[in-house]
Amino acid sequence: MTEASIIADELYMREAIIEAKIAESLEEVPIGAILVLDGEIIARAHNLRESNQSAVAHAELLAIDRACKKLGTWRLENAVLYVTLEPCPMCSGSIILSRIKKVVYGAKDPKGGCAGTLMNLLKDERFNHQSEVISGVLENECGELLSSFFRKLRERKKEEKKRKQLMQMEQDTGIDNG
Ligand SMILES: [Zn+2]
Repeated sequence: MTEASIIADELYMREAIIEAKIAESLEEVPIGAILVLDGEIIARAHNLRESNQSAVAHAELLAIDRACKKLGTWRLENAVLYVTLEPCPMCSGSIILSRIKKVVYGAKDPKGGCAGTLMNLLKDERFNHQSEVISGVLENECGELLSSFFRKLRERKKEEKKRKQLMQMEQDTGIDNG
């Protein structure tokens, strides 16, 4: 890897991070993805699982779908996917099926990553397509986005529980706030 390509990878990963932050603002798990073709961003997307109540509304899948529609082809042979979290099995499958040339991801996913952590579907030569994989680009930043999101979520749930307990106590003791 040349220094120029490392700088370019970080630059594009920052764009994926912007998408992840949009997801966070929607109270979605902050994951973002972009697709780049010949140095141009052709699609951007963020996780929309909660908003769409859809198990398949992952950032990578949405970006792939948008790029295919935009280019009018399912073949994304020369495209590079940047995603803040390691792709899951579904998204890795879509990467293979759309023949994406290269995948660059930030944080590893110990519970679902199929681009090197649990397995590497993108490098399995039994499939008819393999992608180049680069991992760990702005890894800390991508990972911190996720851990701070879950930390806040846990705190919110704890607060909510406390509030409910307090309400229950008030009811049990017959305190009248009016
Ligand atoms: Zn996925």
